[in-house]
Amino acid sequence: MKLDVDVLRYLSKDDFRVLTSVELGMRNHEIVPTELIDRIARLKHGGTYKVLKNLLKHKLLHHDSSKYDGFRLTYLGYDFLAIKTMVNKGVFVAVGRQIGVGKESDIFEVAREDGTVLAMKLHRLGRVSFRAVKSKRDYLRHRSSYNWLYLSRLAALKEFAFMKALETHGFPVPNAVEHNRHCVVMSLVQGYPLVQVKQLQNPETVFETIIGLVVRLAEHGLIHCDFNEFNIMIDDDEKITMIDFPQMVSVSHRNAQMYFDRDVECIFKFFRKRFNLSFEESLDDIAGSDEGTDEVGKPCFSAIERSAGFLDRELAASGFTRKDEEDIQRFIEVEAESDANSDSEEVDVVEDLNGTDSIDCDSSGLLEQNEGYESHGREESCEARESSGSEKE
Ligand code: ADP
Ligand code: MG
Repeated sequence: MKLDVDVLRYLSKDDFRVLTSVELGMRNHEIVPTELIDRIARLKHGGTYKVLKNLLKHKLLHHDSSKYDGFRLTYLGYDFLAIKTMVNKGVFVAVGRQIGVGKESDIFEVAREDGTVLAMKLHRLGRVSFRAVKSKRDYLRHRSSYNWLYLSRLAALKEFAFMKALETHGFPVPNAVEHNRHCVVMSLVQGYPLVQVKQLQNPETVFETIIGLVVRLAEHGLIHCDFNEFNIMIDDDEKITMIDFPQMVSVSHRNAQMYFDRDVECIFKFFRKRFNLSFEESLDDIAGSDEGTDEVGKPCFSAIERSAGFLDRELAASGFTRKDEEDIQRFIEVEAESDANSDSEEVDVVEDLNGTDSIDCDSSGLLEQNEGYESHGREESCEARESSGSEKE
């Protein structure tokens, strides 16, 4: 998916006014009636209708007249609102190449006025729920298109709040710069996702650092829940940075033990297969002593001194509430369930939501889609992900 930010330059104040009016209307309408948009925007002499046509042409809106005459935002429309706000705030001045495509996000480089390059993550939480077995099509259609704005915004808010809190506690995460709507701007991590790395100077040290992180997170009351070779970045000095936090849960979650074990297992599996590590002897230092680990050295959740409450205490400060957490968690769990039950006969109606399947954008000639990155799924096994990931030679 590309992002043609050029269009942004040609949009007028009125264009943004109408776009914002549609966004407002979407708070309680899946499709916002045209006449309501006109009432919110309050442009003179029927100006709204002309503007709507222009926004439609640029695929920032989708027209729907199945029940009544109305419009809704496309991903691109929502992207532009967030990008425009960021630019107005002086967070960045240009959007560069795409550096990541997750199943739930698109990641771009953005540049500050002084040339510093940052990473911008656009969350697409609703996108996944469109990929479902055919029998669920109607249900999902009804549910998801209504929620994607809200869910993507929540995911961004949660990611930002966690990144900030984790950074404060000395975890190796990107620096959280700003968030707006479904968009998070953070420092650009040097290096590569671990999945692309074929050789390490010190695989054992890297492995111990990573498992140590899972344990330390739990000590702080948190479980990453998607801790794997795709969400761990490593640089040339083999320094680790962890990314991707919207699915993190508290250690008091009812499935905490399972999530923790799954994170640990993913790392063990990856290092066993990719770097031929055998674990009987390599984990003596982790979690302090043998008592905190099982017979192959895996840290035991029950042996960790866990401090629950991190979520409530630290995240509330960023405006991320318990209800937000419940909402996003419910979505993630329903989605995981529907993924698990799916027979892989997928219906992809992303195109319908986008109004186009290719958001085509380039700002300063900087920007091209990077083919080296592949989308991946949280629901896939570690091995499936491993074999689908591209590797750095
Ligand atoms: P998703 O939730 O879609 O998996 P991620 O946050 O894991 O999104 O990002 C997807 C990919 O984008 C990562 O695997 C990584 O290659 C790249 N990426 C994400 N954040 C950064 C960053 N701050 N710096 C550099 N690359 C990043
Ligand atoms: Mg990821």
